[in-house]
Amino acid sequence: MVTSVRVIFEGWLHRKDDVLLEAHSTSTLVVTEGHKVLVDTSTKEQRAPLLQGLNAAGLRPEDIDILINTHLHRDHTGNNDLFTSALKMARSEERPDASFMCITEDAEVLPGINLMHTPGHSRGSMSVVVETDDRRYVIAGDAIPTRDNLEKWRPPMINYDRSVALDSMRRIAEIADVIVPGHGNAFEPDPSSWKKR
Ligand SMILES: [Zn+2]
Repeated sequence: MVTSVRVIFEGWLHRKDDVLLEAHSTSTLVVTEGHKVLVDTSTKEQRAPLLQGLNAAGLRPEDIDILINTHLHRDHTGNNDLFTSALKMARSEERPDASFMCITEDAEVLPGINLMHTPGHSRGSMSVVVETDDRRYVIAGDAIPTRDNLEKWRPPMINYDRSVALDSMRRIAEIADVIVPGHGNAFEPDPSSWKKR
C-alpha cells in the first residue's frame, strides 16, 4: 500500500528559443508501508536542496531502498551516488551499468507501484505509475518534460520520434489523476487541453 507521493525537489528547465540552457530534474519520493522509493535524483548542483527535501520528509539517503531512474540523462541521475543502499532500476534501452537492475518490460515494483514504458524522448524512458487510496499518480520523467508540453500538446523538444513521444504523452494523460513531469511540480491534467487532439 502506498501511503504518500511527494515531490522532494522541484526541478526546472530553462530554454531560449530552441536551445536548452539549463535542466535539473524533479525528484519524487513514494512511501509505502514497508519501503521508500525515490524517482530521479536531479543534478549535482542541486544536491543541497535535494537533501533538504529528503530531510523535510524525515529521511536520510540511506533510508531509500529503491531508486528508479525514468531514464539516464545526466539531469535525472546527478545524485544517484548518494543512495548507496538503494536497488537502482532503469530500462535496458538506456544501457545502464551493472549496478542497475535492468528493466525489460512493464512490471510491478511493489503493490501500487508499476513501471510503464513511455518512449519518445529516449528509447528507454519509463514512467512510474503509483496508486494511492484515491488517486493515480504518473511520475513521467521526460515523457512529459513540463506541464506546458502537455497543455500545448508539444512532444518533448528532444525526441527520436515525434509520434512515439506523442503516443506516450497520450497514454499517460489518459490514466493520470496527477502528473509529475520531468521538470516542475506535480499537477492535475485538464482533459480539455488534450482530449480534442
Ligand atoms: Zn532527458
